[in-house]
Formats: sequence, structure tokens, C-alpha cells
Amino acid sequence: MKKKIILISILYGIGLAFSLWLYHHKPIMMEDYGQLLPTKIKEVHGAKSEAALQNWVKDSIENGEKISVAGMQHSQGGQTYYPNGIVIDMKNYDKILDYNPEEKTITVQSGATWEEIQKKINPDHLALQVMQSQNIFTIGGSISVNAHGRDIRYGSLIDTVESFRLLTPKGDIINVSRVENSTLFPLVIGGYGLFGIILDVTLNLTDDELYQIRSKSIYYEDYPDYFIHEVQQNEEIRMHIARLSVAPETLLREMYVTDYELAVNQKNLANNADLKRDTLAAPQKFMLGLSRYSDWGKNLLWNLQNKLYVGQSGNYISRNNAMRGDSKFMEYENPNKTEILQEYFVPIDEFTSYLDDLREVLEKEELNLLNITVRYVNKDEEAVLSYAKEEMFALVLLINQGKSKKEIEKTEKVLQKMIDVTLKHDGSYYLPYYSYPTQAQMDEAYPRNKEFFEQKKKFDPNEVFMNLFYKEYSQ
Ligand SMILES: Cc1cc2nc3c(=O)[nH]c(=O)nc-3n(C[C@H](O)[C@H](O)[C@H](O)COP(=O)(O)OP(=O)(O)OC[C@H]3O[C@@H](n4cnc5c(N)ncnc54)[C@H](O)[C@@H]3O)c2cc1C
Repeated sequence: MKKKIILISILYGIGLAFSLWLYHHKPIMMEDYGQLLPTKIKEVHGAKSEAALQNWVKDSIENGEKISVAGMQHSQGGQTYYPNGIVIDMKNYDKILDYNPEEKTITVQSGATWEEIQKKINPDHLALQVMQSQNIFTIGGSISVNAHGRDIRYGSLIDTVESFRLLTPKGDIINVSRVENSTLFPLVIGGYGLFGIILDVTLNLTDDELYQIRSKSIYYEDYPDYFIHEVQQNEEIRMHIARLSVAPETLLREMYVTDYELAVNQKNLANNADLKRDTLAAPQKFMLGLSRYSDWGKNLLWNLQNKLYVGQSGNYISRNNAMRGDSKFMEYENPNKTEILQEYFVPIDEFTSYLDDLREVLEKEELNLLNITVRYVNKDEEAVLSYAKEEMFALVLLINQGKSKKEIEKTEKVLQKMIDVTLKHDGSYYLPYYSYPTQAQMDEAYPRNKEFFEQKKKFDPNEVFMNLFYKEYSQ
């Protein structure tokens, strides 16, 4: 009996020890918003202090480990992780360090979100110059992709950055601006976390303003002219976005435009300045749900959406509220499917012929395309990985796809064709998304990519900072 008890105790002890071992050694899986690249990583460190960040980088150099940097992880091609690497999660490194309303500047730690900045500056009637259409992203992540949004007057995010501090792959902390360590400025901005950790950033701000929304339907062939003469040349229009139909009946033909025009009476800003959530998010989510499953749903969505947006015309909105778009309408849960983004840029004068060619591909191929918004991006000659070689229209595409290998391959085939069409029209594509583009497409869209990767190897010869994007395209 005693022997039996001893045996059971030993077995119990072994079982417990094994469970504990499993618990501590179980693989940590990481994936981003795209959900197409689950990857085993070593561990996640939550950033809290500069000293801890510096120690982690120094330890990684010593131990030959790889580091990736993560914000909200809304990038979709493994830009925030690497197999068996360490992920540094910046989200809690989010203090506002300095704010100067007179100078219209703010310095924040890079894990802060746009929303946090908006809350701080809105009471002084100040606003951001450039950010994405939503305010959920971190500053570090946004700078590292050189983001853009609805503003048509300031260019890409790089134009609004004064300076930042960088924790380098050697573990040093340096100031980077257009005058200090200036080589790094256009490499780190739009540099996908490959040159070190952006610790804090000083951004230029602008005034919050009151806008009147003007929205109307337009035919795609009339859009470039409309944009140049009635939007771009009218200084009073500060922001702009358009939508293109993905409904089979009107595919890439019907559009509607939304302009944000400076309101005549700016005194009314005070009555409209409180920060609000986007009221169109809930109906948009419902309509998107309908359009996922049938052409009928897509036609209905387009007609309803058209009424909803054009119906907003005449309403007043502050700049800060116009920059608080809600991405909740895009939330989607399905064990076998996911929703991905693609963004293609084309010169303004190529827009019409580009859409004709793109339509031809879409009419032949099978792709569950749910939404396309159109924005304008200014020419950006500064960032080494600039996506805007000249003034361009950007088409942001939302696509529903399966997660299986077969489905990924199917989507890849169609998207590579679409990118070929984009390149044929002197266009380019945006890099924070899944690695569907081929190396040859990357080389064509980003003529300075060799220089980018050479500089990466120069500044980080031991390849301390790594991610799946670098693994895919640095050949
Ligand atoms: C729903 C949705 C809407 C989007 N809308 C827009 C849009 O309107 N405009 C636009 O331009 N883009 C848009 N994007 C694309 C893009 O994913 C985001 O602009 C950007 O990635 C968001 O920041 P994040 O905090 O999620 O960054 P993450 O995805 O976490 O990181 C992006 C890159 O930045 C690096 N990084 C993050 N923090 C740091 C840091 N502190 N130091 C160094 N490197 C760092 C990461 O390593 C990674 O390479 C959108 C994406 C989604 C999914």
C-alpha cells in the first residue's frame, strides 16, 4: 500500500513538473491584423522605460537574438515579428513628454496613439496635420510606414515630423532630424522598424478648423478634372476622400466624393469641437456584412452607402472629428477567412485608363472586393521608400479572403495581376500589407529599395532588427 502511494506521488510529481515545463516552454504564436502569418516567436517584452529598452537591445546584441518592434500591429505582412525573435510591444510606452501650444508642437513617446494626442490638443483648438483615416494607430507604427490620410495639403506624415530619438541597433540613443544624423531621417520614416526603436517624436501641429462637408456622386471619367479644378485649386478645401463602386452593376464607374471645406463662420467651431465617435460606423458595419456574401448585397450596399454619404452633405464637422474615423465597422471574425487591405497609387492623369484596365482584370478574376476608397497623396521625394513619386491617387481596397494555403495562392494570383496593371500605369503600392507582390514588383515600385536595404545593412550589420517584410524583400 505504502509503495503504491509513493509511486502515485512520484508520478504526480513528474506530471506536475512536465506541465510546468510545458507552460514555460509552450511556443508563443504571434500574428498581426492580417491573420495570414501565424509565427512562433521567442517572447514579448512590454516597453515601459528607456533604460529597459536599451538593456534589451544590448542583451540581444550579446546573445545574437533578433528584435522586432510592434505598435498596434495593424500592418499585415509580419512587419512586427520574426521567427524565434523578440517582439518589443511599444503600446504602453505612451507618455506625452512635451506640449507647446504656442509653437504648435508636441513630443510623445512612440507607443502613444493619435487618439491620445487628439485628447490632449483638442481643448486648445489644435489638430494633427497628417494621420491615417483612423486614430487607433501608434505614432511609432505610423511613422515607420510613413502614413497618409484625408488631408490634401500637408503631404505624407514625414512632412509633419520635426525630429525623433532613435535607439540604434548598437544600443545607443541618438537624435534624428533633417539637421542631426540626417541620413537616418528618410530611412527610419517609412523604414518598417528596421533601423532601431523610435523612442519619442516631435510633431508639428496645426489649427483645428470647422469644415462643411460637401458630398456628391460623380462618374469616374470626370473625377480627375473635378479633383484638380474644384478640390486642389480651391484652397478652402482642406480634406478629401472618394469612394469607388465595387458593385457589379457599376464596378469602378460610379463614385462619390466628400470634400471638407473651410466653414464660413469659424466662430461655430467651439460648438462643434467636442471629440465624437464616427456615427456612420454602425450602419457601415451592417452594410459591409451584407456585401460579403453576394453581388446582390454589393449592389445594395453601394446604393445605400451612396445615399448615406451624400446625405451628409451640408453638415459641419471639426478637423479633429473628421480625423477620428472608426475602424470598428471593419471588425470581422471568421475562423476560415480574414479581411485584408491593399493600396495602389497611380498618377492623377493615369486614373481613368488605369480603372479601365483594372476593371478588365476584376471582371475576369474571382476576388471578393468589398470596398475601395480613394485619397490623394502629394509627391514625396524625401522618404527613401516613398510610394508617391509624383502626385497620385491612392486606391485602398478591402478584400475578403480565405486563410488556407490554397486561398492565399488564389488571392496572390489576382493581386499580382492587379499590381502589374498598377505598375504599367506608373503606379506603386503600399508596403504595410501582406507580401503578395513579387520581388520584381517591389523593385519596380520602389526604385530606391536597393539603397534602403544597403543602408539597413550598414547601420545594422548584425541584423538585430528583423521582421518578415525584411526577410521577404531584402535579397
Ligand atoms: C483598418 C486599417 C486601416 C488603415 N488605414 C490606413 C490609412 O488610412 N493610412 C495609412 O497610411 N495606413 C493605413 N493602414 C496601414 C498601416 O497598417 C498603418 O498605417 C500602421 O501600421 C499603423 O500603425 P500600427 O501602430 O498598427 O503599427 P504596427 O503595425 O504595429 O507597425 C508598423 C511598422 O512600424 C514599426 N514600428 C512600430 N512602432 C515602432 C517604433 N516605436 N519604432 C520603430 N519602429 C516601429 C513596426 O516594426 C512595423 O514595421 C491601415 C491599416 C488597417 C488594418
